[in-house]
Amino acid sequence: MEIQHFSHHHPLILRSVHPRQIYGIKCSACSRSCLDLIYSCRECEDFHLHKSCAELPPKITHHPFHPFHPLPLVLNSPRYACCGCGKWDSGLLYLCKDCNFTLSPDCAVKPTTRYEFVGPGKIQHFLHKHPLALVEEDDNVLCLACEKYCPSESYSCHHCPSFKIHRTCAEQLPRAIQHFSHPLHPLILRAKDSRFDQPCVACYRSDNVLTYRCSMCRIEMDPKCALVPTQYLQLGN
Ligand SMILES: [Zn+2]
Ligand SMILES: [Zn+2]
Ligand SMILES: [Zn+2]
Ligand SMILES: [Zn+2]
Ligand SMILES: [Zn+2]
Ligand SMILES: [Zn+2]
Ligand SMILES: [Zn+2]
Ligand SMILES: [Zn+2]
Repeated sequence: MEIQHFSHHHPLILRSVHPRQIYGIKCSACSRSCLDLIYSCRECEDFHLHKSCAELPPKITHHPFHPFHPLPLVLNSPRYACCGCGKWDSGLLYLCKDCNFTLSPDCAVKPTTRYEFVGPGKIQHFLHKHPLALVEEDDNVLCLACEKYCPSESYSCHHCPSFKIHRTCAEQLPRAIQHFSHPLHPLILRAKDSRFDQPCVACYRSDNVLTYRCSMCRIEMDPKCALVPTQYLQLGN
């Protein structure tokens, strides 16, 4: 199979990488080494793209987290914090230069996805860097999303004992809201980052773990204040 990628002037062919070759081959979009299926240029010795990187859309418009401007795909980016999930990454990013608004490919392409299953009862949730395991009927769960103690099924992190979140909260917490007090931009849910996070604009507390944030106005709201009855953005799911 042959494709024409926007970042390269020659056509690229799909092929698989031999396990012995993987250390020599780097993706020209994300700079990570290549496994499995890649697109390679026949004419240039060292132009390769992961199949997954090559198939990302070159531009996203009307994204629910940033509906105002188009978000073009940027290759070989230095480290950035994703405005959609708060995670630090490098390589590929969707960027609105005017607003300095950044989205990781996952958040850009799958804004309604909150987690993926990585094993029986185990998920990788966008709010946390480690996998989370399902615990049934734990009666001492302080959920860091709704901040209520209630005995119910929850997900917890093996490495971080305080990271617990109700199953229903993990599955249903809206990723973006349109809050009545900040009608200009969506507020986007993510884990707090001490490098730039601020107190809640409504109640001034700062001990919350999760935050709804407008990265352009640098406004933060804890989930309790953010989720008082308001109109959620329609994100499907
Ligand atoms: Zn890649
Ligand atoms: Zn080429
Ligand atoms: Zn992200
Ligand atoms: Zn913008
Ligand atoms: Zn909860
Ligand atoms: Zn953890
Ligand atoms: Zn608050
Ligand atoms: Zn704003």
